[in-house]
Amino acid sequence: MSVEPSPAVTAVQANLIMIQQRIKQASLIAQRDPNEVKLLAVSKTKPAELVRQCHQLGQRHFGENYLQDALEKIEALQDLDDIEWHFIGPLQSNKTKAVAENFDWCETLDRRKIAQRLHDQRPANKPPLNVLLQINISREPQKSGLLVEQVEDFAAWLVGLTNLNWRGLMCIPEATDDRDRLAEQLQTMQTLQQSLRQIYPQLDTLSMGMSADMALAIQYGSSEVRIGTDIFGARA
Ligand SMILES: *Cc1c(COP(=O)(O)O)cnc(C)c1O
Repeated sequence: MSVEPSPAVTAVQANLIMIQQRIKQASLIAQRDPNEVKLLAVSKTKPAELVRQCHQLGQRHFGENYLQDALEKIEALQDLDDIEWHFIGPLQSNKTKAVAENFDWCETLDRRKIAQRLHDQRPANKPPLNVLLQINISREPQKSGLLVEQVEDFAAWLVGLTNLNWRGLMCIPEATDDRDRLAEQLQTMQTLQQSLRQIYPQLDTLSMGMSADMALAIQYGSSEVRIGTDIFGARA
């Protein structure tokens, strides 16, 4: 008689549980409801099997940067029908069709041409694609994203695209050890989100905070932290 091995918690599952506890802790310190902070598990470059392990523990949202890598995983995990895939990488025109057809979210929108293509290419049998506007909050010239003063015009145009569901803002702040500088950028994001919500009350997502700045981002109102390394380990 064969005996099923007792389900041991894998290393990735243990990391996931630890991150969930850190989110809870940071939320309580910030006097926020931990349920308001969603965890996006950034699985880029990691195998489908590790995504499946996270799914077994109830994790539903996964972030991917590289289209080909992502499409293989989406295909391999088609049996998990409640999984939500977020595209969080830079997006060129020749890749919009695959994103529109295979993802639930695109978090890096910052150009009208790309938004128009995602709208045109979203299949009619799918709900509108959830999108976030990426903000270049550190105003670094080489970085993607809209500048704060460009957002209002872009938003007014974007809401006309009915196959897209604009949910909020995303940023990758400056890579700096200067906590005050970082806090200033996160706070600017929070203020921008709050002022946009006066006009667009449907905005419910502020995606900021990665492995290194998660707690600070939660303090400044993040509703979605994007964590890769601390769940899946370092990338090659
Ligand atoms: C890779 C990546 C992350 C995750 O970063 P870690 O430092 O591995 O937690 C988050 N957001 C974006 C946009 C990324 O590209």
